[in-house]
Parts: sequence; structure tokens; C-alpha cells
Amino acid sequence: MKNILYMVIPCFNEEEVLPDTIKVMDKKIKDLIKKKKIDKNSKVMFVNDGSSDKTWDIIEKTSKKNSLFTGISLSRNKGHQNALVAGLLVSKDYADMVISMDADLQDDVNAIDKMVDEYFDGAEIVYAVRSARKKDSFFKRFTAESFYKFMSKMGVDIIYNHADFRLTSKRVLDSFSKYHEVNLFLRGIFPLIGYKSSIVYYERGEREKGESKYPLSKMVSFAWDGITSFSTKPIKMILYLGLIEMIISFISLIIFIILNFNTGSIIAFMVFLSGIQIFCIGIVGEYIGKTYFETKQRPRYFIDINLMEKKNGRYNKKTI
Ligand code: UDP
Ligand code: MG
Repeated sequence: MKNILYMVIPCFNEEEVLPDTIKVMDKKIKDLIKKKKIDKNSKVMFVNDGSSDKTWDIIEKTSKKNSLFTGISLSRNKGHQNALVAGLLVSKDYADMVISMDADLQDDVNAIDKMVDEYFDGAEIVYAVRSARKKDSFFKRFTAESFYKFMSKMGVDIIYNHADFRLTSKRVLDSFSKYHEVNLFLRGIFPLIGYKSSIVYYERGEREKGESKYPLSKMVSFAWDGITSFSTKPIKMILYLGLIEMIISFISLIIFIILNFNTGSIIAFMVFLSGIQIFCIGIVGEYIGKTYFETKQRPRYFIDINLMEKKNGRYNKKTI
């Protein structure tokens, strides 16, 4: 087997940081090829996720000058997770192992060596885990760490402090291609696939340039998506809540009767209970909404341009 490595890097409006990323990746890939760790046909595949700035221009120009770089461009912005899936599924046909990482150099490229070593030791999934978040702001660190803790409390099996910086073998990606869900939460899917896995620790750096595309509101909705895609624990909690509520209201009713409370307090109490009910219906509704989107089975993305298949100035268009 050859040892072709593909690096998949989703990019959304990353014109500021991309030239730096290209420099760093060029050095890293060349170094790994020189050390004979990876095959000389290894590449960096950028996924342009519907950027409105010069991101795609930079990718295209770089791929013309340097054969270590290639790219695909999606038909519009589909979000980080969809962009990653597009990159992973396209690159698996060319590579023996694929590493996904962010464009902003927050993921330490020096961890790549260790990840490839783990692959040669037999691991088919290598999770890069942040050993420290010293460089993140207190707020980012607190919200991100609470995210992992809350997820596992809610019954989602994810690797603590691991995002989407991971190595996967071709075989894992073949298995992954059988997952067709549209509510994507990749860090929840890979532990489900199985095979031998291992962990590599790295220190997460600061975003080199540009701004984070994950503000708090997006992070909260991402966490909620993750929970409702992988666990029905919230629905079970509603069941228990309903039970507790029934007991409490029954006891309260007796107290109301005995103490002859005024109607105002009883009404307030009833409104409170109906609030809880509406909240719970909302949670159940979330699951129904998810089922609705899953049953539609809409395509997750369209590839507008695939530089791997570019012929005579015209582009082959591929739909997945
Ligand atoms: N990204 C993307 N599509 C989006 C948003 C983000 O492809 O709609 C990419 C982005 O370019 C980056 C990665 O996803 O490479 C992670 O985003 P970011 O660094 O902004 O997130 P953070 O590290 O702040 O959580
Ligand atoms: Mg980042």
C-alpha cells in the first residue's frame, strides 16, 4: 500500500490567513515526503465553502503553481461540517489516509507527524486532542469546555477536547460514506464507526488571522444539534420531569385546598406548569423537525468545481 496523505482544509472567507496556511502546509508536506513518511503524491485539498472573498482565487492560483495543492469549491456556503464531508469523500478516492484540519492554523501542524506515526502503528482513526487552551480567551475556553462536559452528560459519546482535527484511514472513510445524515456532527459519528483508534495531544494556538466563524450563538446551536442527533436523553428527561411535576402539583393541590389559598396563586402555579409543558413539547418538536429533514434526504452539498477533475478548461461537476 502506498502512503498517500491528503489534508482536507475547509475555508470560508479565509483570504487573510490562507497565504500563511499555504506556506506552513507546503513546508510540512515537503518535510514529510523528504522523511519518506508519506508518498510524494500527497496533497492538501482546500474546500471552498462558498466564500465571498478571494479565498477560491488563492486556492486556484496556488494549485496551478504548486502540485501539492488542490481544491474543490462548493456551490454555496454549506457550513463547516458539510464542507468537511465534501472534502473527506472526494479525497478518500485518492488517498490512503486523510487528515482534516482548520484553515486558521489553530491546529498545530507538528501534531501531523505524530498522527501519521500512529497510523503506521495501526490506528485507523487518530484524534488530535487539545492538551491546553492557554491561548484561548477565558470565555472561549469556558464555553468550549462546558460544551464537551454537557454533551457527555446528555449521552453523546465524544472525545473530550477533540474537534475536527483527526486522521482517518481510507477504510474508515469508506465506512463513513455510508452515513447519510443531514444533521451533521462529525465528532460524534467517528467514535461510532469503530476500528482501532488513538489519541495525539497538541496545544491549540491562537487564530493567526481573520475572525472566528463560530460565534457563541453558532456554538450553542451546534451543541444542541449534536445532542439531538446522537441522543434521546432530553426526551427521557421530559418523561421524568413530567412524573415529578405530577407529584409536586398533586401535593400542592392538597396544600392549596387545606390552606385555602387565593385563586391568584393557583393561576400562577397553573401558568408555570403550562410553561413547562410548552417547553417540553418544544424539545419533542426539535426531534420531529430533525426527523423531517432526515426523511427528505436532501443532498448535503454540490461541488461546483473540482480541481482534481479539471479538464480542458471546463470543469466536471459532481453531485453527492
Ligand atoms: N468554516 C467553513 N464554513 C463555515 C464556517 C467555517 O468551512 O461556514 C471553516 C473555517 O474557514 C475554518 C474552520 O471552518 O477553517 C473552523 O472555523 P473557525 O476557525 O472560524 O472556528 P473556531 O476555531 O473559532 O471554532
Ligand atoms: Mg479556528
